Amino acid sequence: MSNHVLVRWTIVPRNCPRPILACPTCGVDRPFHPSGKIRLNANGKRLDAWVIYKCGDCDRTWNRPFLERRLATDLPPDDLAALKSGDPAVVRHLAFDLAALRRKTSVIAQSEEVHVEKVVTGGATGAAGVEIALAVPYPVGIRLDRLLATELGLARSRIVALAGEGRLIVGGGGNALKRPPRDGQSVHLDLADASDGRGIVDAAGGTANCVAHMNGQITCGDD
Ligand SMILES: [Zn+2]
Repeated sequence: MSNHVLVRWTIVPRNCPRPILACPTCGVDRPFHPSGKIRLNANGKRLDAWVIYKCGDCDRTWNRPFLERRLATDLPPDDLAALKSGDPAVVRHLAFDLAALRRKTSVIAQSEEVHVEKVVTGGATGAAGVEIALAVPYPVGIRLDRLLATELGLARSRIVALAGEGRLIVGGGGNALKRPPRDGQSVHLDLADASDGRGIVDAAGGTANCVAHMNGQITCGDD
């Protein structure tokens, strides 16, 4: 463990999850995307609020309720103020809330495109291994083996081979490589004597890639 580079990957989907809904205007199923707006009804003591989605082909909207007859006093004042002003951070969080979307509709398109921000957090230079801590603030659709192959510049068969040799170990075990990455998961790579080890360590730490700023990479809504 001592001769390892420690890195953190923050994995953010480039697109919000999109419900596939029967659009009454188009007459067929269409992906709907968050409009970037929410609607709030404060009727007396009770609150109702919706995330507004738009058909990908016309302007038809679909409102997904996320607050239903909630007591206004149940909400911290700061949260209520953020909803009233349509705070972009809150709107973005709602748009990426896959679990809440699943409670209202069953067919959802998830983008496999993600942006990965890599930060070296410690460890030795010239290390023969890497310990990757995964931060996944929003659910992503891509499988972990595909993500690792892309980000480490390897063929997926090489990822499978490394796992088979016990050089690549994923926290959570089992079929973790075939599933999307989860928040808090770790990936451990032992690359001593591997001919491609140096390149893999560099790629894992982001030194082989240009790291773009996270927030500029996300599309969500119309703007
Ligand atoms: Zn439509």
